[in-house]
Amino acid sequence: MPIHEKSLIRPENLITNDSLVIDGVDVSGHWSTFIKSRTITDYNEAMEDEISALPGGENIHRCWQCGSCTNACTVNAVNPDFNPRYWIYLIRQGLEEELLRDKDIIWQCVSCNKCTYACPRDVVPEGVMKATAHWLELKGHTPKSPSTHFDEGFTESILATGKIEEGRVLRTFFQRTGQPLNQPWLVALVGGLVKRFPLGYLIRMGWSTVFRPRTSNWSRTGRAIEEYVSERRAEQAKALGLDTEGGH
Ligand code: SF4
Ligand code: SF4
Repeated sequence: MPIHEKSLIRPENLITNDSLVIDGVDVSGHWSTFIKSRTITDYNEAMEDEISALPGGENIHRCWQCGSCTNACTVNAVNPDFNPRYWIYLIRQGLEEELLRDKDIIWQCVSCNKCTYACPRDVVPEGVMKATAHWLELKGHTPKSPSTHFDEGFTESILATGKIEEGRVLRTFFQRTGQPLNQPWLVALVGGLVKRFPLGYLIRMGWSTVFRPRTSNWSRTGRAIEEYVSERRAEQAKALGLDTEGGH
């Protein structure tokens, strides 16, 4: 039987007989490729529950492995190793070590959601990819991705003032990801804004950046949201068996 998705099998686990005749039939080469049998003992039986405890991973149990997600995937079209169906299979089986082999490419999901529209089981594979990338970070398998740094800076800004402070969010993002602030595209953007916007508006923008005005009566709302966020993080940390709240 031909082996589909041969790329998913480690070369050391494949056996090929260059010259093999069975009952007078020449089955050399490709026709005598076998997968070595092996015993797996290091299952992480909690893995599916851990991923489904994170935002986006809730429906992973619904997957029936049809492969429509991988077929439709934007990233898979340029990198066949990016395989949402396969990763969902590994997670549901608890094959953590196998999943970790791909830990450095899972974050590459571009959130186009083509998989989500193709999925007949409402798994929301895009969400599962996000939850898996987040799980890898929380478990310490990968460093925080730039997108996590951005999300954290964005959330902190909202919690502090009840407003989206683009300038502060960008500054925080560049600081945390070790990038200089004088990005050519940003310089061009600011230059364009200065030319187009009325002076009064620019002064108000500058004033807001320095004095950080808050939404009126924000304290109570901000505290309630903060409480909710830390409750959710504590629940997630518990589901993942982490010591620290939220693992951050
Ligand atoms: S959302 Fe991510 S996993 Fe889904 S098709 Fe797009 S790149 Fe692929
Ligand atoms: S399309 Fe949906 S059901 Fe099919 S393999 Fe992907 S996630 Fe699973």
